Order: sequence, then C-alpha cells, then structure tokens
Amino acid sequence: MRRPHPAYPHPAYALLLGLAFIGLAAASNPVEHTASAAASAAATAAKASAEHGASKKGPLILIDAGHGGTNTGAPSVRADIFEKHLTLAMAEALRVRLQNRGYEVRMTRTSDTYLSLRQRGRMANEMNVDLFISLHANASENHSHSGFETYILTPEAVDIDSRALRHDSGRVRPDVDADTAALLDDIERSSSQVRAAELATSIQQNMRSLRGKAGDRGVRQDSMHVLLGATMPAVLIEVGFIDHPIEGEELLDAKLRGRMLDAITDAVVTHAGDLAARR
Ligand SMILES: [Zn+2]
Repeated sequence: MRRPHPAYPHPAYALLLGLAFIGLAAASNPVEHTASAAASAAATAAKASAEHGASKKGPLILIDAGHGGTNTGAPSVRADIFEKHLTLAMAEALRVRLQNRGYEVRMTRTSDTYLSLRQRGRMANEMNVDLFISLHANASENHSHSGFETYILTPEAVDIDSRALRHDSGRVRPDVDADTAALLDDIERSSSQVRAAELATSIQQNMRSLRGKAGDRGVRQDSMHVLLGATMPAVLIEVGFIDHPIEGEELLDAKLRGRMLDAITDAVVTHAGDLAARR
C-alpha cells in the first residue's frame, strides 16, 4: 500500500526525456540526517559492502519487505494479518529464490520491526546494491480493487537538491574526486532508471502470464523520497489487493505467492546481465 498516485502512461519514454534535466539544477536545501537509524544502517551496510566487495559474485540485490512493526500496512481479509506480514513472508521467499539463482541478497528487515523509508533508502545507497526491490500489497477503500502493478522508483527530487543529495546519499566512491563522483552518479542514475523501466515491464509481463491480463495495472512511476541519491535500479511491486474478497484470500496462499515470486525472479534473471554491467 502506498499513497494514491496517477499512472504514467509511458514511463520509459518519459524517463528518457527527463534524463537530460537530471542533475543540472543546483542544490538549495541541506539534507537532514537521522541519528541512530543511520548509524545502524551504516554499520550493516559497511559489513554487507565489505562482504560483497570480497566475493564479487554478481549483482547484489536488496529486498525490502514493506512496512513492519507499528507500521502494519494495509489490512487483509483476515483480522490478524496485515500487509507487513505478507511482505516479510514474500521477501524471505524471494531471497531464497534469488540466492538459488546465484545472486547476493540482502534484506532491509528479517523480522517484524519498524524501519523508516529513509533508513531503507540509506541501506540501499550505502550497501551500494545493484537492484532494490520493494514488496508491497495493496488495498482499496471499498475493497473492490484487484490486480498488480510495478512502480519504478525515481529520485525525482534530484533536480531540486542534486548537489546536497549526492553528498548525502550517492554511491560511495572512495577513489574519485567529488565533481567526478557527482558526474558519474548522474550518468548511473539515468541508465538505472531505464533499466528499472525494463525490469518493471518484464515483471508485469510475467505476472500477467500467471495472473491474467485483467489484473495488469501496468508499470507506474513514482518518486520515493528515501531513494533520492540512489543510482541503482529500484522497483516497488504491489503484488495484489489483500483486502479484496477473492484476491485477498488468494494472496494468503503461500503456493500461489511462490508462483508469483517465481515470475518476479525470472524477470530479475532476464535483466541480470544489465545489472551486472553496472559493476
Ligand atoms: Zn505498502
């Protein structure tokens, strides 16, 4: 569940057109820093980054189970099950699948704990991951909506705060001077959005094959303010509506969820070459 947002008809083209403007604007606002959250995320990130740097097996993927702790997310068709439970179960199952396909995988959370959006974004940036996948489930006011959609998460605000954000949350580049790092960030950010659009399209195609054309709500575009500095492709998948009387029950079926995660995994594998090319 996320806030309502209008669909963007042709995200890939819109992104391509928008690329020229990214990074041109000057910074105005300093970026806020959150305290202990950042410290703990940074520690995790440094460890993960070091581990990954040592092995370099292939793309590093960060799976984000939406919500958690006091942030329950959407209510499901059953009183004791919320979106946060479903996203965690799916995240764990997706991790196994991706690891079985040879990917390095990290999780933003592995238990029912609260994480702010900023913490999640910071983890993605500091772990320097190649792909960020956020899992969510939807709900609608009258419980009548159904279907699946994939969002490309774009660092929209880079045109406003690009310079400050680069310093705060851009990719870590130890051996490169600040100006060059900023330029490289811009280039990577641009290409990562095209890759995210391609991946999102594949995810929707595979989900459509499994769940039917009628449920295809399309690829959408949204900014996720936590990922402002991210230079990696980032997608957010709304797997279905957990409050819909039929789809909601279906989503509680681990077997069906497994097939959906197979479909998502296949889409990731299809684009693995592009992801690896970033390194
Ligand atoms: Zn959600």
